[in-house]
Amino acid sequence: MSHRNDVGSTAFDRMASHMDREDLDCPKCGHEDEGGHWRVRTSGRQVRYTHVCPSCGAIRKRTYNLDDE
Ligand SMILES: [Zn+2]
Repeated sequence: MSHRNDVGSTAFDRMASHMDREDLDCPKCGHEDEGGHWRVRTSGRQVRYTHVCPSCGAIRKRTYNLDDE
């Protein structure tokens, strides 16, 4: 009897771990924000990621929909 709950592997979590590896290099000034991270905001079924470059202030945004059927 092996019953497995997929706790921790929701679509959201998969996306979050994907974004952990997403590059934090600023495309504008080339600053590598090694200690930085994407900010996550969810609204309904949308997940929005925002990264602000600490060097030049450039803002990058990415939006994903959780229903990716
Ligand atoms: Zn920058």
